[in-house]
Amino acid sequence: MGSDTNFRARPDLSILRDDVRATSAYHVPPADGLVKLDAMENPYGLPETLARALGERLARVALNRYPPSNPTALKAKLARAIELPAGMALMLGNGSDELIHLVIQACAKPGAVVVSPWPSFVMYELSAKFDGCRFVGVPLRADFSLDRDAMLAAIARERPAVIFIAWPNNPTGNLFDRATVTEILDAAPGLVVLDEAYLPFACDTWLPQLAARSNLLVLRTLSKLGLAGIRLGYLCADAAWIEQFDKLRPPYNVNVLTLATADLMLDHLDVLDAQAADIRAERARLLAALRALPGVTAFDSAANFILFRVADADAVFAGLKSRGILIKNVAHMHPLLAGCLRTTVGTRQENDAFLDALKASL
Ligand SMILES: *Cc1c(COP(=O)(O)O)cnc(C)c1O
Repeated sequence: MGSDTNFRARPDLSILRDDVRATSAYHVPPADGLVKLDAMENPYGLPETLARALGERLARVALNRYPPSNPTALKAKLARAIELPAGMALMLGNGSDELIHLVIQACAKPGAVVVSPWPSFVMYELSAKFDGCRFVGVPLRADFSLDRDAMLAAIARERPAVIFIAWPNNPTGNLFDRATVTEILDAAPGLVVLDEAYLPFACDTWLPQLAARSNLLVLRTLSKLGLAGIRLGYLCADAAWIEQFDKLRPPYNVNVLTLATADLMLDHLDVLDAQAADIRAERARLLAALRALPGVTAFDSAANFILFRVADADAVFAGLKSRGILIKNVAHMHPLLAGCLRTTVGTRQENDAFLDALKASL
C-alpha cells in the first residue's frame, strides 16, 4: 500500500524468446485426494526395514558439501549392476529428461533435426524445440506400429542428427518391431537413442547392441522402477560420446541425497524387481478386465501403463475423476490417439477401484 510497486511498469517480456512465450508450461495436474494413476509411478513404497536403513544412510550424508562432480564409484556400481558392455561408458542425469536435453544440445548445429515416431514422449519434441533443433514426428500406423517406409523416408529426407525411439513407446505402451528398428539404426546418419524408461516392465533391451553399433545410445531411468522422486537417469554409450556430452552436463547435476539413495538401492534391487514383477502380473489382470468391458478397446502393453480407447474419452476421464481416480487423457495429443485414455498399473486395490469407477463412467 502506497509503495512504489503500485506504479512499477509491468515486466517487458518481449526480451524473451518468442517460442518460449508461445509455449505453455508442462502441465502436471493436482492429484490431492485422488487415486494417482496418471504418471507411471510405482505404487509401492519401500519396505519398513529398507526405509529405515535409507534414513540412517541419508542422515550421514554431508549436506554441506557439493556432490562429487563425477560420481565414479556409483557409476561403476551401476555399470556392474546393469552389465554394461566392456568399452562402454555411462553418465548420470537429473532424470533422463536432463539427458535428453544434453544429447540434443550436443547435436544442435544450425539446421539440426530431431526425429521420433509420433505420438511418443513429449519431452523429445519440447527439448528439441528449446535446444534449437527442428523436430519431425513421423506418424505411427493406426495400430501404433512403426511405419517403416515413412521412417526411412524421413531419415533420407531430414538427415536427422538424433532419432529418439521409446522402447516401449509412451503413451501407446507397445514395443516396436525389432527388425525395423535395426533398419533405422542402419539408415540413420546420426545418433539413435533407444529410451528404455520402461525396462522393468518390458524386460527387453538394446544394451548388448552397444558394442556393435557406434551410433546407438541407450537411455534409462530409475523413475519407473520405483524411484521417480530421486530423479536419476543414465545414458549408456561408447565412451567417446559420453566424454563429449559430459562437457555440457552441469557439474553437480546429481545431488548427494540422490547419490546416497541410489547407492543403497543398488544393493536392494531385488526389492524393486519384485515390485516390478507384481506390476507386470497386475498389468495382465487389468488388461483382461478392460478387454471384458463392452465399449473399451485396450491395447497390449510392455510398460506399466495401459492405453485404451472409449467412445467419449473426455466424459469417461471426467467421470473417473469425479469418482476419485486420476488417469491421463491423451485423446487430444494426436489424431491417432482419438478417444484414448492411459492408466498406470497401480496396486491391486487401486486397479479395482479404477475398474469400478470406469464401469460407472462408461
Ligand atoms: C517416464 C519417461 C521417462 C522418464 O523420465 P525421467 O526424467 O527419468 O523421470 C523417459 N522416457 C520416457 C519415454 C518416459 O515415459
